[in-house]
Amino acid sequence: MECDVILDYLRERGISGSRKNSELVIAPVGSLQLGFWCPRDDFPNIDDIEDAKRVLGLDNLDVLIIVSYRPYILIDFLNSLIERANRWYGLQFNVKLLGVSSVELETGLEDALGRAFVEKPHKLSPGVKSEYICPQCGKDLLYLYREERYFSRKYRRRVVERIYACISCGFRARKIDLID
Ligand SMILES: [Zn+2]
Repeated sequence: MECDVILDYLRERGISGSRKNSELVIAPVGSLQLGFWCPRDDFPNIDDIEDAKRVLGLDNLDVLIIVSYRPYILIDFLNSLIERANRWYGLQFNVKLLGVSSVELETGLEDALGRAFVEKPHKLSPGVKSEYICPQCGKDLLYLYREERYFSRKYRRRVVERIYACISCGFRARKIDLID
């Protein structure tokens, strides 16, 4: 059910997602790999990091967005699996976990997508130099990696969203301007 809403929402934002299984949607944006997990059970049947890799494809994702009634419980659970896999087996995962409550799915997805984009901006596109000097290091111009106009559920108007980053210091920012 939530997976369908996610696919519709992604389509609305011009992102092509595909269903990996009944609980998982995968969506690449540039070379940024996004996953959306909507577990049917409150506490899914994942026992260890191998399960998490098999069921969620954790090792191929940059960001996993967990859509659930209480997503933060699952985020804590997966983070502890990842931490243990690292401590015991030296396995490294480069995945950022974000949560969206299924109670406020559409505004939640909008926010989560923005946070996912700003996680690794350089993966979104090659980027173009903007006119803004980096506010953090002041050494370089910020690069613009994504610019998109869409109807925001959160602000209830059309917005322009821009994702910036600095190559010199790693500063990243998401800027939203209201249109009309
Ligand atoms: Zn900088």
